[in-house]
Amino acid sequence: MNIWVFLGPPGAGKGTQAVTMAGDLGMPHVSTGDLLRRALREGTEVGIRAKSFMDAGDLVPDEVLLDLVRGRLTSDDAAGGCVLDGYPRNLAQAESLDEMLRELGAGIVGVLNLSVSEETLVGRIAGRRSDESRVDDAAETVRNRMRVYEEQTAPLVVHYRSRGLLLDVDGEPGVEEVRAAVRSAVAAAS
Ligand code: AMP
Repeated sequence: MNIWVFLGPPGAGKGTQAVTMAGDLGMPHVSTGDLLRRALREGTEVGIRAKSFMDAGDLVPDEVLLDLVRGRLTSDDAAGGCVLDGYPRNLAQAESLDEMLRELGAGIVGVLNLSVSEETLVGRIAGRRSDESRVDDAAETVRNRMRVYEEQTAPLVVHYRSRGLLLDVDGEPGVEEVRAAVRSAVAAAS
């Protein structure tokens, strides 16, 4: 079971690139944001617990994510691995993921890190806000999500780099150029 992880700030293009990469590798794309949004729409217990955190742009409590991710990784279609998008989001989640993967006899093959300037991020999120009308793309919430990324998620870059797993990809150019860069980083690490 081979796990790939995508890291990057909100608006870096993670979701788009993770979908293509999963398609290339024939693996499911597992986005915790998508799983949580679906839980919200369906009004499940997870959705009800997650709502206020998501609306504010804060992280949903780790234990909620743990069950969600474990459930997804133990589904039949993930038996060969998956591309994780949006998980882990902090060091505690990274440790939980390692433990879960040990139990499942799986491992992380590589961690794609998309880096993009703040100016580009703000512009991309403004575009997405008008296209998709995501509640958590409102200006104040976006600022909080950026802050949460810097404080809680960015330390994962150092964490995975020190383990020799980080694959840096410049997320500034257009989607196609970034896609090509992701493909070559994945090919080099496979
Ligand atoms: P995303 O679509 O990945 O940007 O996630 C949207 C929102 O879902 C985030 O702002 C968080 O509120 C929540 N979320 C997604 N993934 C996680 C995670 N791994 N840990 C905690 N909250 C998460």
